[in-house]
Amino acid sequence: MYQRRKYYRKKKKPETESEQPELKPAENESAEIKEESPVQPKAVEVKPAEKKPEIRTQPQQQNRNQQQSKPNKLQNKNKWKKLSIVVPLYNEDESLKNLYAEIIKSLGKFSRNYEIVFVDDGSTDKSLEVIKQFARNDRNVKYVSFRKNYGKSAALNAGFARTTGDYVITMDADLQDDPAEIPSLINKLEEGYDLVSGWKKVRFDPFIKRHTSRFFNAVTRISSGINIHDFNCGLKAYKGEVTKNINIYGELHRYIPVLAAWQGYKISEVPVRHHSRKFGKTKFGISRFFKGFVDLITVIVTTRYIRRPMHLFGFLGAIAFLAGFAVSGYLSYEWWAFNKPLSNRPLLLFGMLLMIVGIQFFSTGILGEIMVHNFASAQEYVVKEEKVN
Ligand code: UDP
Ligand code: MG
Repeated sequence: MYQRRKYYRKKKKPETESEQPELKPAENESAEIKEESPVQPKAVEVKPAEKKPEIRTQPQQQNRNQQQSKPNKLQNKNKWKKLSIVVPLYNEDESLKNLYAEIIKSLGKFSRNYEIVFVDDGSTDKSLEVIKQFARNDRNVKYVSFRKNYGKSAALNAGFARTTGDYVITMDADLQDDPAEIPSLINKLEEGYDLVSGWKKVRFDPFIKRHTSRFFNAVTRISSGINIHDFNCGLKAYKGEVTKNINIYGELHRYIPVLAAWQGYKISEVPVRHHSRKFGKTKFGISRFFKGFVDLITVIVTTRYIRRPMHLFGFLGAIAFLAGFAVSGYLSYEWWAFNKPLSNRPLLLFGMLLMIVGIQFFSTGILGEIMVHNFASAQEYVVKEEKVN
């Protein structure tokens, strides 16, 4: 059985503050970004800090709430050197300049090497021209442009493949996510988590979206056992390794924390500010609700049951078959004991249907097991560390 894990674990703080490397002063905190003369904060190499032993304590719920009131300063505990920011975008030309300026402003708070990877998901407006302009003026900007619209998951995947940072941030391009939250996400990563998801505690989305999303989050939380509030927040921070090991396709970007947790990564969340959409409109229509539900089934099947299909189909099959058997047994008893004819009893059909469905589930499970057996050589684990020879 899948074991519930505790995701709110907290790394013990070092005993003295002096153990931590000092944070370098911001170099361009108040820099204004102009199109032709972008500010390029100097990349400063940070001396590796000494690795501290990992000691974890029990979850601290109030920590999440405290986080919001903390100033967004980077604590700078570990020895990471480079930050990659991945921005998937589809027809967002009006938002991009503000977004770029705000990202640079947020990064100006700490002097680190960084790169921004814009992924143009087949935009038909001027988005590509705008990001090309950024890349011309700023050597830290990379971009990749799709021939057509493949969807946010494909865009994130392409972005991840092109990052070189130790830490990776993803954010939407429509200014709904606030780049000023980057330091608070990274501070949480520094506590020893592998993935930190933003939590849009106060949301500025239409009524129907807010409520359906709350429902989806609750269903996902219960079925996955991962205790976070907001699975589909565009703003997330990852250790670089996580982005290379998760495979997001279709529309699975909604369930990234589930996929990562299934690989054994430690997940947490911090509340983040959210804004209403200023330009353009949402790229996911009403179909998102149906697709979201189907994707949830995909995620559960491909994480929990991918290596043991019989546990799912055998269970369903056994329940259906036994229910059908009970119904038929009851009818047979009545026929035998009280001589009640079976020809005018619709329940008979129902009982038979349940037994047939049960056998079908079983057969599907057996086919699934055969397939798993054939592909058993495929990699099914992620190694944390090792020493060979
Ligand atoms: N996006 C994308 N490809 C798509 C749909 C969306 O790259 O096919 C991007 C979009 O440009 C935005 C982010 O994904 O940067 C989130 O999309 P949106 O704001 O439409 O989603 P919502 O906030 O309504 O959930
Ligand atoms: Mg949006």
